[in-house]
Amino acid sequence: MSKKTYLAIGAHIGDMDLTAGPLLAKASLAGHRTCFLALTPGERGHPKLSPHEYKKQKIKEGKTFAERLGSEFKVLDHSDGFLESDQKTQLEVADIIRDMKPDVVIAHWNDSIHSDHRHASTIAEQARFYAGLPMKHDLPRHGVKRFVYAENWEDQENFAARSYVEIPDEAFTLWHESIQVHAFARGETYGFMYIDYYSGLMRSKGCLAGVKRACAFADKEAPGLEKL
Ligand SMILES: [Zn+2]
Repeated sequence: MSKKTYLAIGAHIGDMDLTAGPLLAKASLAGHRTCFLALTPGERGHPKLSPHEYKKQKIKEGKTFAERLGSEFKVLDHSDGFLESDQKTQLEVADIIRDMKPDVVIAHWNDSIHSDHRHASTIAEQARFYAGLPMKHDLPRHGVKRFVYAENWEDQENFAARSYVEIPDEAFTLWHESIQVHAFARGETYGFMYIDYYSGLMRSKGCLAGVKRACAFADKEAPGLEKL
């Protein structure tokens, strides 16, 4: 089996843990290299803690979650709520893609109720484009073969599932145990029951795919149903 690399690019720590986490848990268990990259820590997402305090907590939670999955964890220091899809940030992420050489990149869908998510989607798309260009650079160019969009309740507008990936029990259990480290996912910030929502979503997508559990991904290029 050739070893693949999966890179999930989220706006805030936790976004990709919830949506791409089950796929990366499955890939990690199969011996592939997996990485969660957050463009901002998501430090303004707590009603009581200061951004400074919550940033420390979020980084700890993100690191712990990734460690439990056997994944790598990276976070950039952009400001939560103020993420811009500028060329500097796109090139910053392109360097990570050149360095890691992912086979599969998972991004936010473009239409989101959260501006950071919309910008994170464009940053990931443009970063992939720049990573594939020959440039005066000490890192060689890298072409990402599969670029897909994760299903996120905040990014639902016009999201059309194209690929369904089965999530076996072992991967689901690893994800479900690991995701508990995130206070927001447990419903402790604004009360949305993320873990229940995404656990239920995997069952409902599994029904559509004819398996026990599945994650759905949108895709602008492939005809769908291709293995991730
Ligand atoms: Zn987010």
